[in-house]
Amino acid sequence: LFVAFEGGEGSGKTTQSRLLAIWLRDQGYDVVQTREPGSTKVGMRLRAILLDASHQGLSSRAEAMLYAADRAEHVEKVIRPALQRGSTVISDRYVDSSLAYQGAGRSLDRDEVIRVNAWATGGLRPDLTVLIDVSPSVGLRRMASPADRIEAEPMDFHERVRREFRALAAADPDRYFVVDGALPQEEISRLIQDRVREILPD
Ligand code: C5P
Ligand code: MG
Repeated sequence: LFVAFEGGEGSGKTTQSRLLAIWLRDQGYDVVQTREPGSTKVGMRLRAILLDASHQGLSSRAEAMLYAADRAEHVEKVIRPALQRGSTVISDRYVDSSLAYQGAGRSLDRDEVIRVNAWATGGLRPDLTVLIDVSPSVGLRRMASPADRIEAEPMDFHERVRREFRALAAADPDRYFVVDGALPQEEISRLIQDRVREILPD
């Protein structure tokens, strides 16, 4: 079982993916909790390059390729091996983040972003994608540390990202579960658990 979490800055997806992992482990499932970018040795270096606030004006195509490179390594070294062992994989971000941030955010052609990522992942798709939807003004206000290169983008960038996530969810309701990120944390986790319960293997 492969579950991805998606959402904008400060949506709470990191917290919620951790809570879901704990809940699944309590029931005896073997869970690999992971995230993008930066869950492999090379990926950590790619993450540092991608988020360095001094790398202003990085080419959008280079950015898209670096996220895709991180993802290719992530799939090959972490996600596929875990799924092959029968583990449940919970990833904080996956391909749809690139459609939202590099596609809608950077205005790259969405079919090209899809193609690059289909190649990078060998076509591996999540069984379920949880979108924690929150308005960028609320999400960004929750961020404590100084903004990384992408968090520092203007509000209209983050609005485009949000709109794309919602459009992706609306276009694929069987794979997507959308939850209101303004709800209390315990309520969000309960809603996610109810949805995941429907697809748990025995
Ligand atoms: O989820 P997290 O905040 O750790 O992600 C790191 C940063 O990378 C975020 O600021 C996010 O906006 C950005 N990102 C991106 N494109 C992706 C994935 C993440 O711009 N495909
Ligand atoms: Mg962030």
